[in-house]
Amino acid sequence: MDRAMVVTKYWHRTGDGRVQCDVCPRACRLHEGQRGFCFVRMRQDDAIVLATYGRSSGYCVDPIEKKPLNHFLPGSPVLSFGTAGCNLGCRFCQNWDISKSREIDTLADAASPEAIAEAAADLGCRSVAFTYNDPVIFLEYAIDVADACRERGIKAVAVTAGYMSAEPRAEFYRHIDAANVDLKGFTGDFYRRVCLGKLDPVLETLVYLKHQTDVWVEITNLLIPGANDSDAEVGAMTEWVAGQLGPDVPVHFTAFHPDFKMRDRPPTPPQTLARARRIARDNGIRYAYTGNTHDAAGQSTYCHGCGGLVIERDWYQLGAWRLTSDGRCAGCGTLVPGVFDGPPGTWGQRRLPVRLASPARLGQR
Ligand code: SF4
Repeated sequence: MDRAMVVTKYWHRTGDGRVQCDVCPRACRLHEGQRGFCFVRMRQDDAIVLATYGRSSGYCVDPIEKKPLNHFLPGSPVLSFGTAGCNLGCRFCQNWDISKSREIDTLADAASPEAIAEAAADLGCRSVAFTYNDPVIFLEYAIDVADACRERGIKAVAVTAGYMSAEPRAEFYRHIDAANVDLKGFTGDFYRRVCLGKLDPVLETLVYLKHQTDVWVEITNLLIPGANDSDAEVGAMTEWVAGQLGPDVPVHFTAFHPDFKMRDRPPTPPQTLARARRIARDNGIRYAYTGNTHDAAGQSTYCHGCGGLVIERDWYQLGAWRLTSDGRCAGCGTLVPGVFDGPPGTWGQRRLPVRLASPARLGQR
């Protein structure tokens, strides 16, 4: 077997000669040699294998604010990578060259979990992020990377759409420290028509993360003009978040740019992002942000106790810092929710692409 292929465990035989993948609600039923919707899990030798173990579409050191995570080790660098494929089919995908890639044999970089952890440490990263495409579909590799990182005191971040089944979800998040979950809209119709998926499993993931794990969670909502940006939809979503997850889960409203199969809509106006942030705050969300736009006021963090500025941000650049080392407002002492550890990082808004191919070490798994 190709060393990038590893046998997986979340599948079962269906009795009609097919094998069903149980990783996500899509539940692909496969004949021998067939690939699932995500393209990276396939049936081979009567089992489901992951075809991209140890392969990546490239590595980059990013600011943690770019994930986006505003309450998790602010200012720190995060070693970020993705693979290929995706288990949703969003028409507006902003990373479609990766998520819809069929070129898994030419994924640019290869590295063992240990090599990634070593590189993250050498580069001074506090965390490693599975991003650009969804780690749900390469969870075996992501878990091994997360474990190798934890051994070195480096945390693991999942950037995900949360479209995952219960059993693999429980295993996956035992290895993860923080997640940004993309809540793409708040109607079943939007998920069905525009993302080729379902809303309920995503909400189940959010409730699970918030109430049954210690994973730090933030939410991203990409607002698309005329598709998911109405006052009613943003209102219903933020009411649900405040009611079901509580007021302390940060919500990021980010701007859409015409891309992939959705080029017939304009970019999101800044006013729409500001309006959504206002609605969220009115509905009790304490930490609502705007993203993908210049809006220092909407990207900065204000204490929910006294309203004072505690972290100033402009895009990914931090400015004034008024938090104690354990995350309390320097003005009133209120504990700001999140993972804070000493003074802010100084990575700034740089992006640093890195190469760390070590194919010789891949056979060690
Ligand atoms: S992870 Fe991939 S193969 Fe498995 S059910 Fe989801 S889309 Fe299908």
